[in-house]
Amino acid sequence: MTYVSAQLRKLVIERANHRCEYCLFPQRAALFSFEMEHIIAEKHRGTTEAENLALACPYCNRAKGTDLGSIDPETGKLTPFFNPRTQKWSDHFQMNGAEIAPLTSVGRVTVEILQFNQSERLEERDRLILGGQYS
Ligand SMILES: [Zn+2]
Repeated sequence: MTYVSAQLRKLVIERANHRCEYCLFPQRAALFSFEMEHIIAEKHRGTTEAENLALACPYCNRAKGTDLGSIDPETGKLTPFFNPRTQKWSDHFQMNGAEIAPLTSVGRVTVEILQFNQSERLEERDRLILGGQYS
């Protein structure tokens, strides 16, 4: 993994408003430090530049790994994951209580592979919603 300078790291964190850019989990409510995620993994020649970096919680980052997308079960088509640099979150997802519901093909593969609605994550999100920390 390429070194990310403190200056670039600061830009990514502030641009993301201190939240995971995939599941919107707030950094301040997390026990773990969020990570610099390569939207296009370095393995696929993604660069370590602001346009290819996102702030991601460890859950999303681990689940995504070096994958770029998946097969949408509804269309059977190879579909890229949500790209927080070029796409708008609310075009692809919506909150349904504590659950993140997909609105599009991109949303479906992202919710599925990044495991947004795994039970422990739902419980944690539910707790944050109740505390007014997830909006
Ligand atoms: Zn996340």
